[in-house]
Amino acid sequence: MKRDPVKLGPGDLVREEILSLKAYHVAPAAGMIKLDAMENPYRLPEPLREELGRLVSTLPINRYPDPAAPELVARLRSTFGIGAEHGLLIGNGSDEIIQIVAHTLARPGAALLAPEPSFAMYPMNAVISRMRYVGVALNADFTLDLARSLAAIEEHRPAVVFLAYPNNPTGNLFPEAAVEAILAAAPGLVVLDEAYHVFAGRTFMTRLGEFPNLMVMRTVSKLGLAGVRLGYAAAHPGWIREFDKVRPPYNVSVIAQHVAERLLAHIDVLHGQAERIKAQRAAMFDRLADLKAVEAFPSDANFILVRVRDAAAIDARLKARNILVRNFHGSHPLLANCLRLTVGTPGENELLLSALAESV
Ligand code: PMP
Repeated sequence: MKRDPVKLGPGDLVREEILSLKAYHVAPAAGMIKLDAMENPYRLPEPLREELGRLVSTLPINRYPDPAAPELVARLRSTFGIGAEHGLLIGNGSDEIIQIVAHTLARPGAALLAPEPSFAMYPMNAVISRMRYVGVALNADFTLDLARSLAAIEEHRPAVVFLAYPNNPTGNLFPEAAVEAILAAAPGLVVLDEAYHVFAGRTFMTRLGEFPNLMVMRTVSKLGLAGVRLGYAAAHPGWIREFDKVRPPYNVSVIAQHVAERLLAHIDVLHGQAERIKAQRAAMFDRLADLKAVEAFPSDANFILVRVRDAAAIDARLKARNILVRNFHGSHPLLANCLRLTVGTPGENELLLSALAESV
């Protein structure tokens, strides 16, 4: 009698390190005041929405997108001042660019180095790509420990260093001189992740020509287009040529390419919204400073990290009031009892602040 072949399941076949990964957490948000994901809370003005509707109705969605996305790339270059001498990579969100970088540089034994706590997708992509992850702890006040970072670079010779500028979830910008020192010391690529640059007003994009090992990565997500899924990165063309081989050719859809191109032609609208968010950030920070049981950390991004006495209890009480924030307690020792509050509309922030005032 023939025996059934033994069937192997995910527990047998999936790589050990993937089995022990935790999937990136996205909380269910239906009916909630969503202050957990650094989205821009404002809708687009009605005429612009109608313009987009008309545009979408004309798009050839029966065809694959042009992998080179020429109109979008031209618009990104002109809007953000990225000269023709630099290469430009587009991704399905900057999440995908992180993945492409890790896949491309994952030679056996290669290291990916990042400060921690920082964006969770850096270590996650190191694991997925089988890179050696090296996390360098920030100081307790979330400033960069430059001496420790330089020593780790010397010891591990990372293929790539990721620096979020400003950092997520702490909100602070590392000093320009520290970034320069890391660029000088790093033997490989340094990806400066400027996801929050509109709220910080500081950038290394204008200095790309000075550093052959610098890639400046950005996203349109925090600018107000998180649902479009578009990230971009600029660097010396030699880097971009290799990353482009790893990038799936149709990674940015016809709809994303054209909608983003049209909206970037109206960048003033998005910048106007970012200014309102920055004003709200300042107002919120002042109000948080009045709450004795809350320690708020200064932010150059569109969120504020706070430390409370019992993050889990406060998170639960906020949820009971339909307010969603992000609890970082347990994710890193430096983030004990920390909650990250995305800056919302004035109304949303008011609800959050009054709920916090009653809870702490
Ligand atoms: N980098 C940083 C520092 C982020 O905080 C985020 C989003 N949370 C991303 C990259 C990814 O953004 P997206 O994939 O939406 O472009």
